[in-house]
Amino acid sequence: MDATLDQVDAALQEAQIAFLSYKNINGKKKAEFLRVIADEMEALGGELLSTAMRETNLPEARIIGERGRTTGQCRMFADLVEQGSWVEARVDTALPDRTPLPKPDIRKMLVPIGPVVVFGAANFPLAYSTAGGDTASALAAGCPVIVKAHPAHAETSELVAGAIKKAIDKAGMPKGVFQHLHGIGFEVGQALVKHPLTKAVGFTGSLAGGKALFDIACQRAQPIPVFAEMSSINPVILLPDSLVHQAERTAAALVGSITQGVGQFCTNPGLLVAIENDGLNRFIKSLSEGINNALPGIMLHQGIADNYTKRLARTLEQKGVTVEGQSSSNATESQGKPLVASVLASTFLKNPLLAEEVFGPFSLIVKCKGIHELHAVANHLSGQLTTSIFGDEVEIAKYSSLVNVLIEKAGRLIVNGVPTGVEVCPSMNHGGPFPATTDSRFTAVGIDAIKRFARPVAFQSFPNSLLPEELQDGNPLGIWRLFNNEWKK
Ligand code: NAP
Repeated sequence: MDATLDQVDAALQEAQIAFLSYKNINGKKKAEFLRVIADEMEALGGELLSTAMRETNLPEARIIGERGRTTGQCRMFADLVEQGSWVEARVDTALPDRTPLPKPDIRKMLVPIGPVVVFGAANFPLAYSTAGGDTASALAAGCPVIVKAHPAHAETSELVAGAIKKAIDKAGMPKGVFQHLHGIGFEVGQALVKHPLTKAVGFTGSLAGGKALFDIACQRAQPIPVFAEMSSINPVILLPDSLVHQAERTAAALVGSITQGVGQFCTNPGLLVAIENDGLNRFIKSLSEGINNALPGIMLHQGIADNYTKRLARTLEQKGVTVEGQSSSNATESQGKPLVASVLASTFLKNPLLAEEVFGPFSLIVKCKGIHELHAVANHLSGQLTTSIFGDEVEIAKYSSLVNVLIEKAGRLIVNGVPTGVEVCPSMNHGGPFPATTDSRFTAVGIDAIKRFARPVAFQSFPNSLLPEELQDGNPLGIWRLFNNEWKK
């Protein structure tokens, strides 16, 4: 049932009360809580799988994989906070005899930011929804979470919320540390973002939705950060000499990536850029054959299917766009039909609409006349989660200035690999300049995602006994600290 505005207010009041005790709960206890969440999610067993499959049309193997990723993320953050060094402790002891002025004792660490609102993602019903990466990283940081369930998988969300509530009881956490609200339409979500007790927002979804919530957050009397992951076409650059040698192999890899999960990944390769030559002709032939043989698939919800149909039709209507290949099977109105099209770089550069995300199994090939046009296309790109370069080491070295441009544009650069498939590990960066996200300094995947929900505080001239344990003399927690400019445990 949709939450009322009174329920939104009550949830934030409850979250704030919980924050006052939860922020001081030590890493060991938070780790235990996160591990119990993972256990309780697994204990939901077949009911969770069948509900998620029914609501999202995703196959069982994908849901099982996503459940593993979700519980794995909870346990990864548990290990992180149990170990404790994530708080980035810095200790500078006093120099009372320094001249001309004495130096005070200053110690700094990250502390939790406060109640966080998380918007569940349609395309990751488990791993980026109720107990997903945003929730797990916020809870790990010490922040209570209020999830606005995605209406396309409301029952799945309710089941996972029930598992988290059981974990709250079992681990003895304050009740308001996690709350779950429904709301079809924008009222509930917007009220959550506007509420003065909300201190940060995590969002995955459309550019329109993410930007609207970001703008609301900026207009508050007290603006707050919104970590929104929104729109990326993940350009793939195919270098000319290498393409001659690997046209068919590269095409096969891209057919798999474009059609994987009916193209409903934020890392779907929506733009393929290459210089015209024999390699590109063979690549297009092979890619088109692969796409012709690919089957349409049911999309996550009717809104996403309608959006795909509408945006695809709009792209194909643009001057100079030619369909190169499309699934030979008919698609129903809830299915996404794989399709690839091409356009000349000179036309692409004049039409900004062709660089917009078409969320689904679609990719646009941009044909360049030479290196200058390839550079112009790279410069024209807006912010991306990823860019890929297909080429051997010698050829990539020849294009080092192009690589420099791509580093400006994206959060992750991939050599000879497709952008789909985001490894969850400390070195992963899943973010990028706008419109890929609203804050390119942070990642939504991997342990550093916790930093979105923490802020630094410096404690000056504090008596040792009043300092947080992480900063006390003798390092009672045994964590890594920058101690008078030297790394020490
Ligand atoms: P969405 O429409 O942005 O919705 C995501 C969540 O945000 C929902 O809970 C929605 O609430 C809420 N929301 C959206 N706009 C809002 C606003 N102005 N004010 C308050 N709340 C708002 O995304 P979606 O339904 O998941 O998918 C729609 C499109 O988003 C897709 O077709 C695709 O283009 C894009 N998408 C992109 C990515 C990516 O990673 N790049 C991922 C998923 C989706 P309600 O549902 O209650 O309206």
